[in-house]
Amino acid sequence: MQLYSTNNKNLRVSFQEAVFNSMPQDKGLYMPVEIPQLEKGFITDIEKYSLPEIAYKIASTLLGDEIPATDLKALIEDAANFDAPIVKLDKQTFVLELFHGPSLAFKDFGARFMSRVMAYFLKDGEQLLDVLVATSGDTGGAVALGFLGVPNTRVTILFPKGKVSEVQRLQLTTNGKNIRAIAVDGTFDDCQTLVKQAFADDELNSKFRLTSANSINIARLIPQTFYYFNAYAQVKRQGFATIVFSVPSGNFGNIGAGLLAYRMGLPVHQFIAATNANDTVPRFLETGVYETKPSVQTYANAMDVGAPSNWVRIMDLFKEDRKVIQALVKAYRFTDEETLAGITEIFEKFNYVACPHTAIAYLATKAYAEENPTDESAKVFLSTAHACKFPEVFSAEMTAKIELPEQVKSLKNNPEVYDELGKDFEGFKEYLLKK
Ligand SMILES: *Cc1c(COP(=O)(O)O)cnc(C)c1O
Repeated sequence: MQLYSTNNKNLRVSFQEAVFNSMPQDKGLYMPVEIPQLEKGFITDIEKYSLPEIAYKIASTLLGDEIPATDLKALIEDAANFDAPIVKLDKQTFVLELFHGPSLAFKDFGARFMSRVMAYFLKDGEQLLDVLVATSGDTGGAVALGFLGVPNTRVTILFPKGKVSEVQRLQLTTNGKNIRAIAVDGTFDDCQTLVKQAFADDELNSKFRLTSANSINIARLIPQTFYYFNAYAQVKRQGFATIVFSVPSGNFGNIGAGLLAYRMGLPVHQFIAATNANDTVPRFLETGVYETKPSVQTYANAMDVGAPSNWVRIMDLFKEDRKVIQALVKAYRFTDEETLAGITEIFEKFNYVACPHTAIAYLATKAYAEENPTDESAKVFLSTAHACKFPEVFSAEMTAKIELPEQVKSLKNNPEVYDELGKDFEGFKEYLLKK
């Protein structure tokens, strides 16, 4: 697999280089030079395959000979070791549950695969790999649990102080070992800016072997394609010929992976980008003007992103052709009030407790279905996190229905350890140099 930079189509790096660099020097994003097509037969017969089989097929098609077959198979079986089932809500509506991994969010798919790919490429005796990651809540937990105990690695997580839920914070701060957490006095965008500045800093780069675990890393994007194919296999088993995906979006890595799957040959009828008040992309699709804004805080805090870092990848996938993207991706945005009403509606109609992100994807699905009453596709909205990660939005009746997974019960027994910093780069740099 060869990759270029979205800022320099002549650049060529291997998958291994792209994984460790995370971002090209020119501040573009890595993209595959060629997007390989899956054979027609594989798509036609996809309902015969399990999730690990589908994952191996896609990964090997994309990666080529970068990782030998037996190693790649073992890596995928270890990384994708939990299910991604669809749950039927009504005749045409399904929720794709992506929260059955260790941190209870879809980011486990990306983080587990990436940490194992990095560990695979790391040779004995090499310099310690320093993973820097900014999180609005869920990335940090997935990355921490993905890397926990992986030799020769150290993870530094920056999270916006007071803006993550208790379960999220515990997932970041109770690990110890090779994981350290920093509460930044600022927003998620501030955390992300600090990480980007660190990568651009010569002194830090000469002292440390830095890499990013954010959704800009190509090794996070690839495994997120797996569950799109697997969801299609599941609706095919239920007799549907076409599929619509609704994706609750923040940095647009998740829907970006879906669009990559589409470009590899997954026959998706329509994508729906669902956002909260952070609506940079919906506004762009309406007006053609791409204008980022400072993020605003909402109940769906993992989507509080004013400058979605993966959007350039989506533009690149479709050769910057806004018309093509507009046709394939419908965008909807919802306020906090609407989100709460959505949570109530899902509970009352389907007896299902959905986290705020999931509720936004549901509302977008519903809006799309109302506008397109003749579309007989299976409508699949992605549930990106377990409801217990966002307890503050639920009524007592809903809370009583939420089953706490084992992973959460054990967190509360561990001591919390984290440092606190401001949002200035100098302070963060000093921390990295001195700690
Ligand atoms: C990260 C996250 C999102 C947004 O995903 P992107 O890939 O950044 O668009 C949505 N929901 C939850 C629960 C998340 O953790």
